[in-house]
Amino acid sequence: MEEAASRQINYLRMSITDRCNLRCVYCTYWKEWQKQPAAEILRYEELLRLAAVAVEAGVRKVRITGGEPLVRRGLVGFLQKLNRLPGIDQVCLTTNGVLLRELAPDLYNAGVRHLNVSLDTLKRDRYRRITGSDNLPAVMAGLRQAASLGFHPLKINCVVLRGINDDEVLDIARLAREYPLQVRFIELMPTTSQPWWQRHFLSMAEVRRRLAVLGPLEPLTREATAGPARNFRVPGFQGELGFISPMSEHHCPTCNRLRLSSDGKIRPCLLESQELDLKEPLRQGGSDSFIGFLFQEAIRLKHRKTSHSLPCMGSCPQDLSMVSIGG
Ligand code: SAM
Repeated sequence: MEEAASRQINYLRMSITDRCNLRCVYCTYWKEWQKQPAAEILRYEELLRLAAVAVEAGVRKVRITGGEPLVRRGLVGFLQKLNRLPGIDQVCLTTNGVLLRELAPDLYNAGVRHLNVSLDTLKRDRYRRITGSDNLPAVMAGLRQAASLGFHPLKINCVVLRGINDDEVLDIARLAREYPLQVRFIELMPTTSQPWWQRHFLSMAEVRRRLAVLGPLEPLTREATAGPARNFRVPGFQGELGFISPMSEHHCPTCNRLRLSSDGKIRPCLLESQELDLKEPLRQGGSDSFIGFLFQEAIRLKHRKTSHSLPCMGSCPQDLSMVSIGG
């Protein structure tokens, strides 16, 4: 509780689009999902205004996510402006990496250094099965390009799926031995049907048990804005391993993030449906101080919560659409 009261909510994740060039099996109920009309998606100037207001509310770190942020036109110019906003210390980006090879130099020149790339498998046929596309070679080329340009930290996010990619956790972890990467394993969250979630969920405790053959995992301390991963060094590795366990061992008391959906709703917690609409005040002449009040309200709601409400491990909130809220 004490930890919860003293934490600084200084990290905003902005989903800038609900469009994506992949259809990952676990991400959303794709069959039922309807993309938002373009007019509902916040424009870049609206996002910049919200970011400036968020700084006044204490935000120092912004992560751009989606959908797939690299599919949105004009992204690089937006990132340049965001990076120049006074008060923002870090502009980070999460991508599936499909378009990374072409865009990495522009992202770097726009000031992005912190890059997370999602990668659940090193096998081409499996990648096709998980994402519905044949883009594994493009993602690997994008990762190489990003590493050579000097993005740091460069992180790989791997959602572990029992019976689909869990036999690869050792191979994926070994990427952190070969390269100075942070490889992060993530527990599957219940965004699709409950039976599917139950069949494919694997806890991080089990993943760590399987990685024990790599040697002792030495815990690293968590930085203030470091996020939800528990990070470890492994002797002989250039990079690190991280584990994110939102289901089995939630990190709510230390969570410092707010989430803005692509249609302008602010969520104190990914796994709670409670959200505040910022788009209406933005478009109906609301003042910065009123929008700032809504940010403060979201922060207040977050401070009141020290745990999300998925205690039954797998009850799926109807409106948990990762493609719109951003994972
Ligand atoms: N398109 C970008 C990407 O692929 O990284 C950004 C958006 S994606 C929704 C962000 C992250 O959420 C990805 O790492 C993805 O694997 C993760 N994610 C999506 N659905 C998830 C789920 N049900 N459980 C755990 N992680 C999930």
